[in-house]
Amino acid sequence: MSVFDQLIDQDNVTSVLKEAVLASRDVKNVSQQMTHAWLFTGPAGSGRSNAAVAFASALVCPAGGCNKCNECLSVTAGSHADVELIRTQGLSIKIDEIRELISRASWAPSVANYRVVVIEDADRLTESAANALLKVIEEPGARTVWLLCAPTLADVLPTIRSRCRHLSLHTPSIKAVTKLLIERDLIKPELAEFAARVSQGHIGIARHLATNKETRDERLKTLKTPSMLTDISSAYKAASMLVDAAKQRAESESEIRDDAEIEKLKQAWGATGSKLAAGGSKAIKELEKEQKGRGTRLVRDYLDRALLDLATFYRDVMLVQSGASDFLINSDLQSEITNIASTSAESKTLAKIQAILKTRINLGLNAAPLLAVEALMCELRR
Ligand SMILES: [Zn+2]
Repeated sequence: MSVFDQLIDQDNVTSVLKEAVLASRDVKNVSQQMTHAWLFTGPAGSGRSNAAVAFASALVCPAGGCNKCNECLSVTAGSHADVELIRTQGLSIKIDEIRELISRASWAPSVANYRVVVIEDADRLTESAANALLKVIEEPGARTVWLLCAPTLADVLPTIRSRCRHLSLHTPSIKAVTKLLIERDLIKPELAEFAARVSQGHIGIARHLATNKETRDERLKTLKTPSMLTDISSAYKAASMLVDAAKQRAESESEIRDDAEIEKLKQAWGATGSKLAAGGSKAIKELEKEQKGRGTRLVRDYLDRALLDLATFYRDVMLVQSGASDFLINSDLQSEITNIASTSAESKTLAKIQAILKTRINLGLNAAPLLAVEALMCELRR
């Protein structure tokens, strides 16, 4: 058993990491052997942050990543004294956060050979934060290792990526994800294959689909919108339905966590009744602001997921139009797909797919969700 077992279909990356772990255990040569900054890239769902966390475990585990000792388990739980996991839920990582992080990262490791910092969304560093980080990556402490993750190389400042050893992960095959769901999550084969196929090899989404009926229902609802689009008013209706669904999911996910965080912070500031110690209300306002940012990002993430599903739908429509209906991603919706394929032209389908991808980009650039999706639904209307 090893922490690297969870990296599905990534043999090249795994072998580099295992070699680095072996080299790092040569204690006499700690500083010479170790690369101090690594960059993991790969599309969403390829497991780039899992790879970084597994590597962090292996670096601090006495057995090189056994996945069962206290060190390994506490890294995964985010509670290891020498491993820091930075998972931002906001839209960006700001310079203050990075400055604090840098000062903590300079401490000597307390139990392990290394202090490891994993930044899961290095693409969300603001420019000033990235520049601050660049300075420490240029001259890292001998016992600090930085593991950055981002979707692609282009998402990271060139100056940073040139200082990092780069590892690129790919989307695992549908077969590999199916196997993982069956073996690790004990999902029935048919459901596992369906989840792996419609999520297009995104491990996290596949697992979510396979274990959560609500998510499967949500997907069906999204994929039925193309058939709803008969006139302008139905396009507006479909848009508000998609945006509301994303908001609702984001809200239900945030609510419990937000309240618990506020409660915890209040206790930390020694709240008695409604009174807070000095500075407490400012800290709470800051936390609320952060939570709001996180909520905005969640809505956008859910909408993005819905748009990706829609893109696979029209991809299927195009396959049917070109006479290749054997390889549908959404084969459970064959009749809807065939219906739309028979009533429109292939060139229009391609334009629709492009419109969906353009909307995804616009949402990523902070476009107002409802307006962007309304415009899209009007374009998708038959
Ligand atoms: Zn271990």
